[in-house]
Amino acid sequence: MAQIFALAGWRNYTEDVSQPWIAFSLEGGRVNKSQGGADIPASAGRADISPSPEYTRASAAPAPAPIQPPGQFSADGQWWWNGTRWVPASAAPASGPAACMVCGATPATQVTLRSVLALAVFGVTSTVRGVYCRDCGLAMFRQRMSATLLTGWWGVLHFFINLGVVFGNLGERARLMRLGPPMRNPGTGFLDPGRPVFLRAGFIVSAAVLLIGGSSLIIAATTPPVPFPAADQAYIGLCAQHSGNDWSTVDCSGAHDGKVVSLAHTAEGCPSEDSAAKLDDGNYTCIDTSK
Ligand SMILES: [Zn+2]
Repeated sequence: MAQIFALAGWRNYTEDVSQPWIAFSLEGGRVNKSQGGADIPASAGRADISPSPEYTRASAAPAPAPIQPPGQFSADGQWWWNGTRWVPASAAPASGPAACMVCGATPATQVTLRSVLALAVFGVTSTVRGVYCRDCGLAMFRQRMSATLLTGWWGVLHFFINLGVVFGNLGERARLMRLGPPMRNPGTGFLDPGRPVFLRAGFIVSAAVLLIGGSSLIIAATTPPVPFPAADQAYIGLCAQHSGNDWSTVDCSGAHDGKVVSLAHTAEGCPSEDSAAKLDDGNYTCIDTSK
């Protein structure tokens, strides 16, 4: 299971080189996996990149990123990309504004977006953290949000985890939308935000689930229970005796094995401590054997 998730995560990562840092956590299993890679800033705890001797910080310098624009902090905030190499964050110019890691535009802000893949009891939450301008950030938000709306609902625990993720992502989107319009070098490619989330599969599937789930709840709550025929109700209060698998009504003053206390449409509908005896019309009498 964990292997499959790890592979799925890797595929996801290799498709999008603009993602600086991706973590996977597997709930319901035993693995917490973080992904480090060639162009992923990674701390020493989760990657095989050793710190340069000149730096003795806790965090290893992230690997150089070919598409990395200058003026950007690493995911853990301890390193700064000067356009050529990672330097300690203290060496970053104080005035250097954060730049989008995809297109180099300013203003940009660090956002954390999550998506959930839920499979009954197992599930994976993947986290993407990066510095993005409004356009690239919106593109990342829409991609992650649509994914989590599609795959996040299909577990009991993860349904609620996914609710938190959805609201968390919305909060990050709100921060992105507060950024000014991106200023970038003309001709620099940026991520196309594409269609809004509500026009994508995830939203449509979520809306359908909500509609079906909500309407079946309403139907169940508003449908009156099917009444029992008078002939069945006449059994309540009678005493019964059983021989083999059959129950027959007897006079309560004589010997009896129990008393009919209620009716049910199914054998499971009777209280668990009672015996259920099927009537000719398919309903059941529930017999309290202590009476
Ligand atoms: Zn950008």
